[in-house]
Amino acid sequence: MSETPAASTIRWEQDGTGVVTLVLDDPGQSANTMNAAFISSLEAVADRAEAERDSIRGIIITSAKKTFFAGGDLRDMIRIGPADAEQAFRKGLDIKRDLRRIETLGKPVVAALNGSALGGGYEIALACHHRIALDAPGSRIGLPEVTLGLLPAGGGVVRSVRLLGITDALLKVLLQGRRYDPRRALAEGLVHEVAATEEEMLAMARAFIDAHPESRQPWDTEGYKIPGGTPAHPKFAANLPAFPANLRKQLAGAPYPAPRNILAAAVESSQVDFETAQVIEARYFTELVTGQTAKNMIQAFFFDLQAVNAGRSRPEGVEPRQVRKAAVLGAGMMGAGIAYACARAGIEVVLKDVSLEAAAKGKAYSEGLLAKALAKGRTTEAERDALLARITPTADPRDLAGCDAVIEAVFEDPALKHKVFQEIEGVVAPDALLCSNTSTLPITLLAEGVERAADFIGLHFFSPVDKMPLVEIIKGERTGDEALARAFDLVRQIRKTPIVVNDSRGFFTSRVIGQFINEGVAMVGEGIDPASVEQAAAQAGYPAKVLSLMDELTLTLPRRIRDETRRAVEEAGGSWPGHPADEVIDRMVDEFGRTGRSGGAGFYDYDESTGRRTRLWPGLREHFTTGATIPFRDMQERMLFAEAIDTVRLLEEGVLTSVADANIGSILGIGFPGWTGGVLQYINGYQGGPAGFAARARELEAAYGERFAPPRLLLEKAAAGETFTDG
Ligand code: NAD
Repeated sequence: MSETPAASTIRWEQDGTGVVTLVLDDPGQSANTMNAAFISSLEAVADRAEAERDSIRGIIITSAKKTFFAGGDLRDMIRIGPADAEQAFRKGLDIKRDLRRIETLGKPVVAALNGSALGGGYEIALACHHRIALDAPGSRIGLPEVTLGLLPAGGGVVRSVRLLGITDALLKVLLQGRRYDPRRALAEGLVHEVAATEEEMLAMARAFIDAHPESRQPWDTEGYKIPGGTPAHPKFAANLPAFPANLRKQLAGAPYPAPRNILAAAVESSQVDFETAQVIEARYFTELVTGQTAKNMIQAFFFDLQAVNAGRSRPEGVEPRQVRKAAVLGAGMMGAGIAYACARAGIEVVLKDVSLEAAAKGKAYSEGLLAKALAKGRTTEAERDALLARITPTADPRDLAGCDAVIEAVFEDPALKHKVFQEIEGVVAPDALLCSNTSTLPITLLAEGVERAADFIGLHFFSPVDKMPLVEIIKGERTGDEALARAFDLVRQIRKTPIVVNDSRGFFTSRVIGQFINEGVAMVGEGIDPASVEQAAAQAGYPAKVLSLMDELTLTLPRRIRDETRRAVEEAGGSWPGHPADEVIDRMVDEFGRTGRSGGAGFYDYDESTGRRTRLWPGLREHFTTGATIPFRDMQERMLFAEAIDTVRLLEEGVLTSVADANIGSILGIGFPGWTGGVLQYINGYQGGPAGFAARARELEAAYGERFAPPRLLLEKAAAGETFTDG
C-alpha cells in the first residue's frame, strides 16, 4: 500500500488488484468538510489518479468518520461577504473541476457511503458512477442546502437534474432539502444499492468495478436525454409555468432567495453542456452565499441549534439522568401527545385522567399516529406494539408509584393543577421531577401547590406534540438547578430541542406570538382589508397566516389570558397599556359570537361537516374594513417588529437569558420566519444592523403607536455598534 502526504484529508490506499480506495479522513476533525485542506487534497488526488490512470482498475470513495462527509465548511461560509464573491465563485469551480476529473477518468468510481452523505457528501456521491449506502441507523442522504439558504454547488444541481430529471430533482431533493434514510434513498433513485454491513458494501463496490471496467456517467454518453425532458421539450414546456407559481405558493413570496435560485439554476443548467451548467450553478450559489439570508439561516439552524441542544442553558455539574417511568396527568390533546413522545423514546408512561375511559382515549391517540406511520412504512408492527405496551392508561393515582417524572397537562386552572399535584406527590418516586405543561400560568405560583418546589418546573410543549420540535423549559423562582438539568435531559431524551427561560406570564413563546397576532388583528381594526393582512403575514414568511392562526388558538383563550394579566397588573398597582386589537377581539366574540375554529366561526368561515376553513368571514368587510391602506412593507414589518421588540424587552427583563434560545425558540416554537435566522438575528441582519432596526422602529412608533418604541437594550446595542449574541 502507498500513501499520499500526511497533511492530506483524503487517504489513498491502493491494493494489489488495482483498486484505489480514497478514504475521507480529515485529521484532527470529527467530521469531513469541504475546507481548504479537502479542496487541495482533492486536487492532489485527481492529479495522481490521472497520472497513474493505467495502473488503476477502479476507485472506491469512502470515509473513516461516522458520517461519510458533512458538507460545506459553514464556519467559513458565514464569513463570506459580497467583496469575496469572485473568490467564492472560483473556489466553487475548483471543487467542481476536480470532481469532474475523477468522474471522467474512464475508470469506475464507486461511492461507498458508510454514514450520512448530506450536501457536499451526496454531491461527491453524485460524481461517482455507482452509489452504495450502508443501512446504518440514523444515516441520511440528500441535499439540504436549501434549509440553510444555499444551493448545492459541488455539482449537486447539475447532476441531480441529469440523474432524476428537473421535476424530480427539484421536488425530491433540491427544493425542500429532504433527508432520506438509505432505504428511502434507494426507492427514490438516489442510490443504486443498500448494504447491510460495511464488508458487504465494499464487496458490492468491488463487484461493480469488476463488472464495469470502463464506467462513465449516463450524462456523458452519446445522445443522453435528461429524464422527463428539458424545458425545450414541448411536454416539459407545458408544465414549466406551473413551477414558479407553485413555488411562490410554497414560499409565499418570502424574502428567501434560495429556492428561486435553485429553480433558475436547475432549469438553465439543463439546457446547456455540462461545463457551462457548472458555471451557472456556481454563479447562483455565489449570489446566495454572499447574501444575508444564508448567513441568518446558517447562524440559526447550525450554530444556534447546536448551542441550544448542546446544553448552553443547562446548569453545569449535575450528573445527566434518564427518565425511566413518567406520569402524564391529563390525557387530553396535550397529554396524549406527550405520552406518545415519551413512549416513543422508550420511557414507560402512566397516562392518568379522571376516568379510565378518558385515559384510554388519550392512548388511542398514539394508536392513530402509529397506524398512520405503519401505513407509510415508517414503523413496524413490532415497534408499534412495543410502544403501545409502554403506555398504561389509568384513573387510579396509585398506578403512578415509582414514576421518576411527572408531566401535568390538565385544564389550564391553577386550583385544579394544585389539586392533581397534591394527589400524586406522595405516590410517585420521592425525588420525582415535577413538571407542568401550562401555557401561561406562572410556574412560581403553581409551585406553591407542591411540597418540593425546588423540583417543580415548567415544561411547555407545543401542539401537535409529535410534530413540534421545541419544548420551552420554565424555571420558577424556587426551581433548583438539579430540576432544570433533569428537565433539560428529559427534553433531549425525547429528542426535542429545549430552550430555557425564567418565569413570567406567557413566558417567552406565548407572550411573543401574542404580539404577532395582536398586530394582525389591530390592522383589521384599522379598516385594512383582512385578505391583505393575511397576505402580508404569508409573504413575510410566516408559516401560518395571522388571522387563521388566531382562529386555531381561539379568540377566547388569548382574551381570557389578556384579562387575567390585566387584572394581575392592576392588582399589583401597575397600569395596563391595552392594545388596539382588544376591541376587535371583544366585538368578534361578544357582538358576533365568533370564537374561532373550534366554535365553527371566527375570522374565517368553516365547513360544518368537515370543519375546514372555507373563506374569510364576509362580515369582516362589512363591520371593520374601511378601505384604509398602509404600505405593504409596514404591514409585514409591524408583525415582525412587534415580536422582535418584545423579545428584546424579555431579554431586558431577564426572562430570556440566551440569544440562541430566543432565535431557535422563535423559529421552532412560534413560527417566526426561518429566513430571518430567528427573532434577534432578524435585528442583527436588518439593514444597518441594530441601529438601522432602531431607526425603523422609531418610524413605526411615530406612525402606529408607542408599542414600537425601541427598548433601552436595543438602543444600547445600536449605540455601541453591537449585535445580539451570546458572546
Ligand atoms: P384538554 O382539555 O384537551 O385536556 C385536559 C385533560 O385533563 C382532559 O382530558 C381532562 O379530562 C383532564 N383532567 C381534568 N382534570 C383532571 C384530573 N383531576 N386528573 C387527571 N386528568 C384531568 O387540554 P389541553 O389542550 O391538552 O391542555 C392541557 C394543558 O396544556 C393546559 O394547561 C394548557 O394550557 C396546556 N397547553 C396547551 C396547548 C395547546 O395548544 N392546546 C399548548 C401548550 C400547553
